[in-house]
Amino acid sequence: MTDFTHFGLELALLRAIKELGFEKPTPVQSKVLPLLMKGTEDVVALAQTGTGKTAAYGLPLVQLTDPANPATQALILCPTRELCLQITKDLNGFAKYIPEIRILAVYGGASISEQIRVLKRGAQIVVATPGRMNDLLRRKSAKLDAVASIVLDEADEMLNMGFQEDVETILKEMPETVRKLMFSATMPRQVAAIAGKYMHEPEEITIGQRNSGSENISHEYYMVHAKDRYLALKRIVDFNRNMYAIIFCRTRADTQEVAAKLMADGYPADALHGDLTQDQRDRVMKKFRNRAIQLLVATDVAARGLDVTDLTHVINYELPDEARGYTHRSGRTGRAGKEGVSIVIVNLREEYKIGYIERLIKQKFVHKQIPSGQEVCVSQLRGLIERLQQVDLRDAAIKPFMPIVAEALAAMPPDEVVKRCILLEFNRFLSYYKDAPDLNQGQRPAGGHERSRTRTDHTLVKLEINLGARNGLTPAELIGVINRATPGPQLRIGRIQITEHISQFEVAGEAARDLAHAMSQASYNNRKITARLAR
Ligand code: AMP
Repeated sequence: MTDFTHFGLELALLRAIKELGFEKPTPVQSKVLPLLMKGTEDVVALAQTGTGKTAAYGLPLVQLTDPANPATQALILCPTRELCLQITKDLNGFAKYIPEIRILAVYGGASISEQIRVLKRGAQIVVATPGRMNDLLRRKSAKLDAVASIVLDEADEMLNMGFQEDVETILKEMPETVRKLMFSATMPRQVAAIAGKYMHEPEEITIGQRNSGSENISHEYYMVHAKDRYLALKRIVDFNRNMYAIIFCRTRADTQEVAAKLMADGYPADALHGDLTQDQRDRVMKKFRNRAIQLLVATDVAARGLDVTDLTHVINYELPDEARGYTHRSGRTGRAGKEGVSIVIVNLREEYKIGYIERLIKQKFVHKQIPSGQEVCVSQLRGLIERLQQVDLRDAAIKPFMPIVAEALAAMPPDEVVKRCILLEFNRFLSYYKDAPDLNQGQRPAGGHERSRTRTDHTLVKLEINLGARNGLTPAELIGVINRATPGPQLRIGRIQITEHISQFEVAGEAARDLAHAMSQASYNNRKITARLAR
């Protein structure tokens, strides 16, 4: 199928998407659109943001909405205000030529009375965050009895952000006949459980490999001493000229700190996090979209809903708490057929996390070396030369001034003029990177940049299991469980902490992954064990 005309979409929609520049359906659209346009079955689609999923469900929802009926006919739940607004904007774009369809965004943090007022006037499609939707239901301000379709968008994120109860309450309020559609980048157990509990034999659609990162994204990591993290970031940014990137930090404070340092160091950067007012956030996002800033330092939550398709890089200045969060971050690059690079900066104690992520995304990371001062300078110099070569000499405006230049520089040999011009720009880098130290930590991998897979990691890491004292677990019993799960020589076990419900213990980083996996296959006192990295 090569264009949108085969799906049975009405002309008003075809005209709108043509104006939006959609020519060919994306893979998720090719699979989901026909299903939603026909049939009535529930659908679970594994698709990341940036794949065109909003149109995949949005176009059929708009078409199936009766403009003459003011009742709410479709409900879309999504995790954040930004995404809520983005989806609403997209749907309004699709419905541009069906003005009778009203699409309303409802989300927390904004006046509920205003949202109630608009709801009362009637909105056939409501896009909501689960918490606010629940509020509206409790106040009896939203009526869902005519809803024919409910979409859970970014279901994994919604549950991650603690919306499980709200989502379930809303699902229970739905009319019997409602059609349920779920979109999720990953399918963790919690999400599968919701599908199992509330959906009726859903049609499952996977775009690309389950849980895999996009094919267009290469994954790289750099290993540095924790104290050198910022310096490493600067080198990476200086080496990769013209970077257009989101730099992810875990906390608001870190976001602020890194952005402030970058700005003080003269980079076109700014911070995006939840402490900003909505106005400030909108301003930062706008500057980033216009490329007035090229480095956006953001928390995961704040960056969601930011619709930027052509990032060259995503930088994990700090890894997210959960490996799964990495897919969301890296999926922000490598979109719309473009190549993208997802970079992780880790310290020695965090390197084992790379292995977890590799398993999740089913792709290997390349262990890259932080460029030396010399390498950064060469890269910058090349950039400068490229810019010189691109200067348009046909620009007549300079002509009247040339005699002044010729006279002033008459005594200077041409090669000196060139040298001085270059140094004018380049001195900043030369002096900064003169005697710059090697920031790389760990062994330099042999044979190019590939990571040595046989490294030994003696750092202790903490694992956690779902059983504790109330299951009869004692330190000695726990050691027994660990030993039974590990054939071969006994592991060195560090500190053990057993609380009522869970237990934590330390083991060598090199063994942690396999041990967690092996323990998760085992049981203790008839209780299945779940082992994972402790936070
Ligand atoms: P989404 O995954 O829904 O967030 O969409 C990602 C971006 O791709 C949005 O900016 C859409 O406007 C755009 N998009 C969606 N479908 C198409 C298409 N078939 N052709 C071109 N762009 C599209």
